[in-house]
Amino acid sequence: MRQTLVLLVCWLLLPMLAVGQVQTRIAIRAARLIDGKNEKPLENVLIQVEGDKIISVSASGTAPAGVQVVDLGSATVLPGFIDVHTHLLLHGDTTQQEYDAQLLKESIPYRAILAARNAQIALSHGFTAMRDLETEGAMYADVDVKKAIANGEVPGPRLQVATRAMTPTGMYPLLGYSWELSMPTGVQYVDGVDGARKAVREQVMFGADWIKYYSDGRVHFDPDGRLRSKVLFTDEEAKAIVEEAHRLGKKVAAHAIGSDGIESALHAGVDTIEHGDGLTDTLMDEMVRRSVYWVPTVTVDRNLAADNKDEFWKKTFDLQRENFAKARQKGVKIALGTDAGGFDWKKVNQAKEFEYYVEYGMSPMQAIRAGTSIAAELLGWNETAGTVEAGRWADLVAVSGDPLKDIRELQNVKFVMKGGAIIKNELGK
Ligand SMILES: [Zn+2]
Repeated sequence: MRQTLVLLVCWLLLPMLAVGQVQTRIAIRAARLIDGKNEKPLENVLIQVEGDKIISVSASGTAPAGVQVVDLGSATVLPGFIDVHTHLLLHGDTTQQEYDAQLLKESIPYRAILAARNAQIALSHGFTAMRDLETEGAMYADVDVKKAIANGEVPGPRLQVATRAMTPTGMYPLLGYSWELSMPTGVQYVDGVDGARKAVREQVMFGADWIKYYSDGRVHFDPDGRLRSKVLFTDEEAKAIVEEAHRLGKKVAAHAIGSDGIESALHAGVDTIEHGDGLTDTLMDEMVRRSVYWVPTVTVDRNLAADNKDEFWKKTFDLQRENFAKARQKGVKIALGTDAGGFDWKKVNQAKEFEYYVEYGMSPMQAIRAGTSIAAELLGWNETAGTVEAGRWADLVAVSGDPLKDIRELQNVKFVMKGGAIIKNELGK
């Protein structure tokens, strides 16, 4: 009876709440805006936010009476950052031992708790959206992390997730243990055309937004300096993965380091090339022709190089740097991705990637676009994220200085707004 009464009262109140519901309006004032679209920053801007959206961006202007004004003073406002290659379920695996230990000694629930912490770190550094590119043995826990963030249970970026990733049997760790033991694997083992189609369907059923597969392994240099690799899937298998994913409306990311792996992935029809160190002129032209994105993940490489003085990796990263300049000239679309999780979330700020892109020859404005509007385009969120303009999600960051003068400013984000909610503000009044 009491329950019935409560229900009745709620039912009576509902229409009234809907009509009388006051939308939260906030106006943000700042000295400078890099909107992710225009070549030049806008000065003295007023950005009005209602609910989770930006409703107007204007030079100067005054906020309507009664609207809360957040004055960021001399700060620079930018679109929320986007990292399109992360691993929330990993916390650093520069050695094989570290990787194995995470899969063998940490339960998936424990790893999911740390993933929530990692998501919070990313958001506090200004990353309001990410593509999480496989769980490394933590099954579909990325779908749960995404859900908890989307439901507002824990803070974190908006996520698109790839779940388990794929290789053929025996081509991804954990490997080298006694055959008597049944070991966990960092990916889903997938074999044959039918197996490929089934694995795609299964991953999509459990919540994959992207399908990721490993195109190659065992990289080596040819005497002519070309970075070669061993292709893992047969052409038929790779094509089946891509075709089935596309048929189900999902896009495909391929891990490909050597030229053979990149060539095979492009041939199969993937949408993004991850790492891509061994790109050649011909492969870059092919990427432009097919409108495929390159996600270079320089931060993980440079972090590995700091730990590992191996001559092979040094040569690989030098090649990547050369290719970065060439790819820009040719007009390959480069989207910012770091491989965070491949390095410790607590030790390295993902925004370091912007600095590397400038070091490799991009202008600060081009680097910012790679991690905002171009990354949003890769995610298919070009109508909702990546720029600061009316109608977009109110995902904003601010830094105290001018990142066009010093790109490292982006590693010191002072203000973060996601979906109209202020997450952090060390500037405003
Ligand atoms: Zn990765």
